Amino acid sequence: MKIYDTAKEKLVNLKLDHQVRIYTCGITPYDSAHLGHIFTFMTYDLLSRRLIDLGHDVRLVRNVTDVDEPIFKKAKELNISYKKLAADETTKFQLVLKKLNFLPAYAEPLASEYISEMAQAVNVLLERGFAYRLESDIYFSVDKLKSFGTFSNLNFRLQRNFMAMRGGDINRVGKNNPLDFLLWRGVNDVKDEAVWNEVVGRGRPGWHIECSVMSQAVLGNPFDLHGGGSDLIFPHHECEIAQSYGLGQTKMAKYWMHVSPMLFLGEKMSKSLGNLVFAGDLLEKYHPAVIRLALMDYHYTNGGEWHPEILDVCKNLFERLNQVSTKIDVKHANLLLNRLRIAMDNNIDNHDIMHALEDIVNIKQFKKETSGQEIFNKAMWLLGLNLK
Ligand SMILES: [Zn+2]
Repeated sequence: MKIYDTAKEKLVNLKLDHQVRIYTCGITPYDSAHLGHIFTFMTYDLLSRRLIDLGHDVRLVRNVTDVDEPIFKKAKELNISYKKLAADETTKFQLVLKKLNFLPAYAEPLASEYISEMAQAVNVLLERGFAYRLESDIYFSVDKLKSFGTFSNLNFRLQRNFMAMRGGDINRVGKNNPLDFLLWRGVNDVKDEAVWNEVVGRGRPGWHIECSVMSQAVLGNPFDLHGGGSDLIFPHHECEIAQSYGLGQTKMAKYWMHVSPMLFLGEKMSKSLGNLVFAGDLLEKYHPAVIRLALMDYHYTNGGEWHPEILDVCKNLFERLNQVSTKIDVKHANLLLNRLRIAMDNNIDNHDIMHALEDIVNIKQFKKETSGQEIFNKAMWLLGLNLK
């Protein structure tokens, strides 16, 4: 099976053992899941399905960043506990994935369950000279690692811009390098709920160290494939790699696979722009399989502009697939299954997947037998399409 590897910047043939360990950066639960999130996680759901089909034992981990600044901010605005906000939003998200027929994850670790491990990792980075204290906070010193920046391969200006856009504090006075990133936030405010007393002090972990620790704790190191939205390449994944090196691990993941954003009205779907399409809203109007089909109209390396009209096109395709399911013969079902397998092995080629489906519903007459149903169902399982 071929995928596009972000680290190598090319298509690679996956060389995997029987057990495949995948870590995808999950949600920060403070708001409803939008279509961009679903598109990202569906890509790994499709990847997992084909790997299972090939006989692998797939262990997909999708963490929940339930300790992070945007949750605290939103909880404050709503005047509720951050724990309640995070728990409620996580439950809602999991329900949406279930409705959309996602395979269950091997594990969905919560950041809040690994705070001591994260503090210990920060302590190791301090002891090994990769980190320093600034007032009550602790930062990773990017100058201590020559390779910092080679994963994302961006110039300094872009690194600074992305870090500033994505939660970093590039202008903090006293840092050795503007790109030094927070490992531990010291907290003195007695009213702050999200605080732990740990070996490195009173406070809470930064975002990046959470994923380094959770991925290692659940999957070990190195694991096979690391995923997430392409906006995580820098700084999040660059920082994860830096931390892992600092902790003495030579390689974090064998393969890196990122999913490009869904756009709406010409911009990346984002809360600040108000151009979000929520999966929950679509599920009120459309069958889950229709939504999956609509997203399969996009390729994960490109993403693209969301055209709501695609839902009605796919509703029609869905209805015709349902009709085919009751009358298909073995020959045509096998043909479909093989075409889907070839398409998925070719970097999850969504165009070929859609063509294979369109071709099968366009067949005027099948042999008068229904013997292909089982194989047809297998083909639908491969795409996560629960018809009916
Ligand atoms: Zn992450």
